[in-house]
Order: sequence, then structure tokens, then C-alpha cells
Amino acid sequence: MKYYSLRHQSPRVDFRTAAVTGQAPDGGLYFPESIPKFPAGFVRELRSLSKATVALNVMRPYVGSTMPDSDLQRICTEAVDFDFPLVPVEPGVTALELFHGPTLAFKDVGARFMSRCLGYFAQRGDTPPVTVLVATSGDTGGAVASGFLGVPGVEVVILYPSGKVSPVQEQQLTTLGQNIAALEVDGTFDDCQALVKQAFRDPDLAQRRYLTSANSINVARWLPQQLYYCFAWQQWPATAPAPVVSVPSGNFGNLCAGLLAQASGLPLGHFIAACNANDPVPVYLRTGHFTARPAVATFSNAMDVGNPSNFARILELFDNDLGKMRAALSADTVTDAETVAAIRQVWAKDGYLLDPHGAVAYTALRRYQAQHAAAEGLILATAHPVKFPDVVEPILGHAIPLPAAVQHLQGRPKRSVPLAVDYEQLKAYLMA
Ligand SMILES: *Cc1c(COP(=O)(O)O)cnc(C)c1O
Repeated sequence: MKYYSLRHQSPRVDFRTAAVTGQAPDGGLYFPESIPKFPAGFVRELRSLSKATVALNVMRPYVGSTMPDSDLQRICTEAVDFDFPLVPVEPGVTALELFHGPTLAFKDVGARFMSRCLGYFAQRGDTPPVTVLVATSGDTGGAVASGFLGVPGVEVVILYPSGKVSPVQEQQLTTLGQNIAALEVDGTFDDCQALVKQAFRDPDLAQRRYLTSANSINVARWLPQQLYYCFAWQQWPATAPAPVVSVPSGNFGNLCAGLLAQASGLPLGHFIAACNANDPVPVYLRTGHFTARPAVATFSNAMDVGNPSNFARILELFDNDLGKMRAALSADTVTDAETVAAIRQVWAKDGYLLDPHGAVAYTALRRYQAQHAAAEGLILATAHPVKFPDVVEPILGHAIPLPAAVQHLQGRPKRSVPLAVDYEQLKAYLMA
């Protein structure tokens, strides 16, 4: 399998180069030159396959000859080594819970897969030691930190906005140590992101370090997200119609991965892009015009993205054909007030606690079902509610017990390096 740049000004590369460099030299995202079809019988037998076998089958064509099957098998097994339960919420709505990984974030699978791939390539001497540089509004950083912890040949530097991540999220970023450094920026997520982007463009730094990013631009983080949809399908009742899938979307990596799995032959129904106030994609589907805007802060902060990177991949999947896109994909905008109302209502009615991101997906699904009464809905629950206590606990009326996955972080000393919104400071840190 080769990957081409969506800007078409860079050479085609294999999986290893795409994973190690992240983005093409022309600034484009890498895209697979063909979409592999799942092997004959794969979907038919899917329900009886182990998660690791599913992962190996889905990822093998994408990884190609850059890694022997035995290593890919080990990486797949480790990447999906936790539960992805399908939980009934109420009639017509089922949740795929993606928050049972080590950092309670759906990003765990992609981060674990990517980190082990980079570790493999670095250990073989295929690449120089790599520095993963990443800005986070909360969830990405924790998943990346945990995924890369102790991976030889990889150093991780995470920038996060001081005071703007939740306590659990901050512990996940700042207490691991080893090869993980947390820079606590006196600014917003957008400031962190701008600093990171400047570092990637700096030729002095490129001399000093081999920088790569760990967001869903990277194919090694993006592509394994197809697995969620396979795991959902494994558990979906054989007699039920294919589900309509509502995906809480920010950078659109997850949704785009679902569309890719569908294009490979997974029998899913319609897709819904569920967005918060940051909604250039819903606007595009309505009007045909795409306008990036600065992100605005919402309760579902992992989706506060004003210019979603993976939208370019979605356009490519649909051959830039708006009509085709509309036939397969709807989109909706959900306000903070609607998000809170959904959490409250579902908790009261069903005893099911949504996090703000899941609540956005729920609200968008319900509105779609109001027009399509027969649709059986699947929402992706992307984060554990314990990460959003400010929103969820007032509704619940008490604190959410800390899940075992994060209990071990309690009481560990916080280690972070304070940073002003000043590129020279970041540069000095990275050059040292
Ligand atoms: C990252 C994230 C999202 C958005 O996923 P994208 O692939 O960026 O669209 C949704 N929910 C949570 C909890 C996240 O961390």
C-alpha cells in the first residue's frame, strides 16, 4: 500500500514513511492509494473473530510490507486490549462505549497503535530517535502520553493550556514522567496549537530533532479507528437493520475512519456528523460552502475545532461530490444548552450517564430519527463522564467515582514545565 498527499505535490510513500513523518512535505494529508476490500467471508465471520484478529485483518493491507505479520499481530493485540461494549441506552439508541481504555478516551486505540509502530521502526534503526510534539485540549495528550510511555526511541512533548483541562486530564499529562514531558502553557488551546505548528516549520529545530505529530493527521493514528465500527458490528444484533451511526466530531478522524470501514465493506447505515458550535462541516452540507473559523469553547471541548483536518479526507472519499456526500452523511449542530439537557434527560429517564461528547451525538441522532422513524441508532460514547465533572456532576448531584484506570494516578506528583505563549521559549526548550 502506498499513500499519496492530498495536495499531490509530494512523492507517494509507504506506511512507515507516512507514519514517521505524519504529514507530506507539501503540507497535505496522506491518503491510501486504494481502499482495500475486506477479505471474502470477513464480515460474515466477524462476530466470531477475536478483536486482535479483526485488527490484524483490517490493518494488514494498510501496513503492507513495512512490518512482518508477527510484529503487526503483537501491536494489534496490545492496541485493542480492553473492552468496547455496546450498551442499550433507550429504545432506538445504543451506545458504543469507547472509554474503557487506559486513559478513558477513544483516542487510546489510535495512540497505542501509532506509538508501537513508531517504536518498532525506531528500534529497527529505520528512523532516528523521534520527538512527538503535540498540543492538546485535554484528551489527545493523555492518550498519547499513555500510549508512548516507555517506548524506546521516542520522546513526547505535550503542550496543554494551563487551567483549562480537567483534574483527571491534567494528572494523565503530568504524572507519568519517563519519556513524557508536559509543557503547561499560559494561554489557550489555540495558542498551544499555534506554537506546535511554528515548531514544525522551524528549520533550526528540524536540524536538532526529528519532530512528528500524533494527531489524527497521522495515518497510524487515523486508520485503526476503523476498528471501533467493526467491534460495534460484532455486537450488533444479527437480525437488526444496519445502524445509523452518530459520531461526535471535531477533527473528523473518527468519522472518516467509519466511512472508510464502510467503503471496505462493513455494512453500516447512514452516518451523522454530530458537532458542537464549531460546525463548518454541517454548514458545508447545508450550503456547499466550507469556511474554517476560529474555534469557540464549548462543553464538549475535544470537538472545539474550527478547521477540521480530516475533512479533506472525507472530500476525497466522496470524490469531492457533495451529492454523494449528502446521500451517505448528515450533519447537525448541537448547542451547549442542548448538550446539558440531553445529559439530564437521559440520566433521569434511562439512568445512563452521557458525557458531553456522547450527549452531542445523542441529540443529533434523536433529531435525525424524528425525520427517519425506523432508524436504529448507534452513538459513539467517546469519553468517560468523569473527565467532565464541571458539566456532569451538577446534574448527577454527586461526584463520579474514579474508575480504576485512573486511580493509580492519584497522589502522584505533578511535573510540568511552565511556558509563556512565546515561541522562543518553546524553541529554547526543544533545542536544549
Ligand atoms: C477527539 C475527540 C472527539 C473528536 O474526534 P475527531 O476524530 O477529532 O472528530 C470526540 N470526543 C472525544 C471525547 C474526543 O477526545
